[in-house]
Amino acid sequence: MDTLFNWHKNHHEKQLFGRYIHSDSIADLLENLPSKFEIKQLGFSVEKRPIYSVTIGTGKTKILLWSQMHGNESTTTKAVFDLFKIFQGDELLPEIQKILSSCTLCFVPILNPDGASAFTRINANKVDLNRDAQLRSQPESTLLWDLYQEFKPDYCFNLHGQRTIFGFEKTATSSVLSFLAPSADESRGVTLSRKRSMDVIAHIYKELQPYLPEQIGRYDDGFNLNCTGDTFQANGTPTLLFEAGHYPEDYDREETRRYVFMALVAGLHGICNEVTLKEEVYWSIPEHQKCFCDILFTNTASGDIKIQYLEKLTNGKIVFIPQFSENKMTSSRFGHRVIDVYGQEIKNILTENVIGKVDISQINLDNGITITL
Ligand SMILES: [Zn+2]
Repeated sequence: MDTLFNWHKNHHEKQLFGRYIHSDSIADLLENLPSKFEIKQLGFSVEKRPIYSVTIGTGKTKILLWSQMHGNESTTTKAVFDLFKIFQGDELLPEIQKILSSCTLCFVPILNPDGASAFTRINANKVDLNRDAQLRSQPESTLLWDLYQEFKPDYCFNLHGQRTIFGFEKTATSSVLSFLAPSADESRGVTLSRKRSMDVIAHIYKELQPYLPEQIGRYDDGFNLNCTGDTFQANGTPTLLFEAGHYPEDYDREETRRYVFMALVAGLHGICNEVTLKEEVYWSIPEHQKCFCDILFTNTASGDIKIQYLEKLTNGKIVFIPQFSENKMTSSRFGHRVIDVYGQEIKNILTENVIGKVDISQINLDNGITITL
């Protein structure tokens, strides 16, 4: 893992940076992939953007991986292109060589290019593709289903990103990566395919734990057949949900990207080596909670005040607009940034009509607290 960590520091795909990753950002990267990659245009999104698959490897174990099913969750896409980069090296690391000789990997780097372009979770018809697995009402959902039927994967990696609100109450740490072996039915029992997913996740957890102590979490396993992972798992295909989360001070998610990359390699390696671990290792991964906000003002005259950024696409850039966080979303006890204001008055702006109207440029955090409207 150290070798991968260091490789990534120097050699990751530098053309991709930050949060706004869309079809145009990856077009020439796809075009310039060498011939050992097979690029296929699978079809089109609602707004007629092409959706591609990239296949590489010569092994018998087939793995289907898709990213940006939610358009604004781009961290895993960057990590996928980092993988493409390491696959292109002249002298492949032995673990990378092993992956390519044992597996055939089929990636869909951006499944929801319209959402990616608009920086939204949903597609152009305002449908959450990860709740459309049964209906398959959208072209993107049909396309993934058809690819799944045709490719017949032995494993699926469902690659997502999560908000900054997730963390661990017990250790007051952020959930940088989280995983789920989705349930295959209402009973949430451990089916054969679910156990295989658990094995691979447990292996990733063991490999990554030294780099991210107390920062790797497990998603709750409530069953919902409308979710793609649950559908594939119910169908008997071991499926892993990856969630790229918030690393302290890393709103561009460039640190998280590195850990996603390492987790992908660890996961693929676990599959190649057919790792089997006790189910308890999986269950020992702590379930995370919604316990963080972006900025926590403490000791104000009104008690704690929580600020959550609204991530908004403005003139081709993602801007982070601070908003007063209402409690309904998160019981946040922790802040990624904590500012003690020693009882200064900022309560007078906490009225309904100012919520969401404060601009970061108008919050002077260093020279006392002044929030102007
Ligand atoms: Zn997602």
